[in-house]
Amino acid sequence: MAGKKFDYAPAPESRGIVDLQPAYGLFIGGEFVDPLDGRAFKTVSPATEEVLAEISEAGPRDVDRAVVAARRAYERVWSKLPARERGKYLFRIARILQERARELAVLESLDNGKPIRESRDVDIPLVAAWFFHYAGWADKLEYAGVSTASSGPPKPLGVAGQIIPWNFPLLMLAWKIAPALACGNTVVLKPAETTSLTALLFAEICQQADLPPGVVNIVTGAGETGSALVEHPGVDKIAFTGSTEVGKMIARSTAGTGKKVTLELGGKAANIVFDDAPVDQAVEGIVNGIFFNQGHVCCAGSRLLVQESAYDEVLTSLKRRLGTLRLGDPLDKNTDIGAINSPEQLGRIRELSDVGESEGAARWSPPCELPDKGFWFPPTIFTGVSQAHRIAREEIFGPVLSVLTFRTPAEAVEKANNTPYGLSAGVWTDKGSRILWMAGQLRAGVVWANTFNRFDPASPFGGYKESGFGREGGRHGLEAYLDV
Ligand code: NAD
Repeated sequence: MAGKKFDYAPAPESRGIVDLQPAYGLFIGGEFVDPLDGRAFKTVSPATEEVLAEISEAGPRDVDRAVVAARRAYERVWSKLPARERGKYLFRIARILQERARELAVLESLDNGKPIRESRDVDIPLVAAWFFHYAGWADKLEYAGVSTASSGPPKPLGVAGQIIPWNFPLLMLAWKIAPALACGNTVVLKPAETTSLTALLFAEICQQADLPPGVVNIVTGAGETGSALVEHPGVDKIAFTGSTEVGKMIARSTAGTGKKVTLELGGKAANIVFDDAPVDQAVEGIVNGIFFNQGHVCCAGSRLLVQESAYDEVLTSLKRRLGTLRLGDPLDKNTDIGAINSPEQLGRIRELSDVGESEGAARWSPPCELPDKGFWFPPTIFTGVSQAHRIAREEIFGPVLSVLTFRTPAEAVEKANNTPYGLSAGVWTDKGSRILWMAGQLRAGVVWANTFNRFDPASPFGGYKESGFGREGGRHGLEAYLDV
């Protein structure tokens, strides 16, 4: 990108560590099997459009096979194991994840388009941390503080159907599988259709860990496969992370079935900067808030609310900082901004950005050369945004920041809460009392103070309103997988 002080030599991570197969089966009952209908689709690298592999598409009969395998494993093995033995399997998986971290990081960046710096330093370490955390809970469920009808340790639910999106493929898998297994459930997980590869490598890791067959089953495919899983009568619990639109459909189709449901949906978080905030630190937080993972983050700080008195200073500094971001090869260790995951997502980002301009907001990007091949969008800021603009209300799910201003803390709260979502928020100020007051006023599941996008397996995560319900992470995340 132009505007930077000096050039960096390319520092690409080798993809030699990844052993890609030309085609992958479904992981059912502990082994890879062909789909009964023989259907398959291709997965491509979003950075180059190179076909990486062929992925099987699970039809309803395959989903049924997977649910039957999960039920059998639940009844015959997993629910009978002493809890500490379940914990041992989770610890073993966590350690293998760490041993194979580099391979997983490279594969994730290849398939998803995210910078290797992020998959290596954020995604994969958190994946292992999630398994370690829930491994520790497996034999301590009676101390989790959840209330149950009967005495003794809380009981699992049975078979969990789990559906995840493409933005953090392996991390979302970990958020789903680790607590489900720790609580004694077995699972059928469906990864997103554009990012199945790390889930399939995880299936190999389950084999390597000698996990009993059927405890984890992975069915690949798109929305139809997901919907077959949601509607399967043999599933006791549905855990979904994805768009609010699909979340609403799932809520409707599971209503009255007795299935337990948790939904982690979209967001439109406010990142609120007061005039007493340390500007450099706040600017780093703004950049991390919206440009981390190309803005494909449900809790992204996509609405920047800046106090009017600090507006000029913050915007000048932010634009200068954006000029130093490097966009390009996700496998290059210097890359800050990788590829957009799919042409469909790129289309959505372009469309909403065009609407932003036509509604009167001012669009700005640093000088930035986009690669010829692949799916790319430059880091973009919209100023002069009003609350009525669609780019202030709708989730763009891309590297696009809408900037609004406020004068008083009360106005900041009112604007921040003026959204159908309620997943996260950020507050930047020097005053501790103001942080506490703001945190109490903001209708968001997570409020970060003088930081953003910080995750820890011990900390619950989830939303209000159209951002969904239920919590993942920590002690609270156990409730979703227990009969409470
Ligand atoms: P999406 O809802 O289209 O897809 C998510 C998953 O659901 C995919 O695996 C997809 O194949 C599957 N799916 C699609 N239609 C289905 C149906 N009818 N029945 C069952 N499953 C179906 O979402 P997306 O565009 O892939 O992901 C982006 C969305 O996910 C964003 O809105 C983002 O905010 C949200 N998200 C939320 C969180 C969170 O924790 N709250 C985390 C990551 C992403």
